[in-house]
Amino acid sequence: MLEVRNLAVSYGRHRALEGVSVRVDKGEICVILGANGAGKSTLLKTIAGMVKPDAGADIVINGKAIAGMKPHRIVEEGIALVPEGRGIFGELSVAENLQLGAFATRARKSERETLDLIYRLFPKLAERKRQMARTMSGGEQQMVAIGRALMSKPDILMLDEPSLGLSPILTKELFKSLRQVAATGVGILLVEQNAKQSLAIADRGYLVENGLVTGEGKASDLASDPAVVNAYLGGT
Ligand code: ATP
Repeated sequence: MLEVRNLAVSYGRHRALEGVSVRVDKGEICVILGANGAGKSTLLKTIAGMVKPDAGADIVINGKAIAGMKPHRIVEEGIALVPEGRGIFGELSVAENLQLGAFATRARKSERETLDLIYRLFPKLAERKRQMARTMSGGEQQMVAIGRALMSKPDILMLDEPSLGLSPILTKELFKSLRQVAATGVGILLVEQNAKQSLAIADRGYLVENGLVTGEGKASDLASDPAVVNAYLGGT
């Protein structure tokens, strides 16, 4: 459903990505693993239209080429990003934050049903819909950010390090809800430092090093690959 081919991105003279190809199918969770500075955030930001790719890249969603489009157009094509650090509005309530996610034309008609679905996926948000977002815990704020992205009715949901700052237990819960989101047919592209927990819930994964894809495969195979274990799973 999402296909990225030969994506190169430069910041001035610095090449952050050099010919990266990744694919995410309907209803699957795909994880991107890599060290700090490997280019993972750049990949998500470029797919979302916030960073311009170098010439020659193909970014295709549902058969439509979107490389170089403005971010709001890309949301209309069915791609939503939950940025690193969540980017929610602390002074607004949970419900108001969610409503803000429904600005896309593709989302407006079914706003009510989408909201109901999000409250079913994240019952905590339904309980606390009137609470100010900044008074929620880190895990709950992450749910708000994911809920807001889902309000745009994406076919592909991209998340940049959603487990950052969360305990292993909260991370497990959060990842479990991502499986539920995927079960609704949404394809998920997940950037994570937490290799162990993310590989446990992902279907497939890619390893990114210095702007290049250096490995890919089924998540279960990656989790038992000695090179991956050494580099990303602390040798355990
Ligand atoms: P992290 O997990 O630390 O966010 P990352 O894998 O997401 O790392 P990126 O943030 O994509 O990595 O950065 C890739 C490279 O591009 C790094 O060398 C970084 O310093 C550089 N870079 C990122 N954003 C910019 C920018 N706006 N201007 C110049 N260089 C940048």
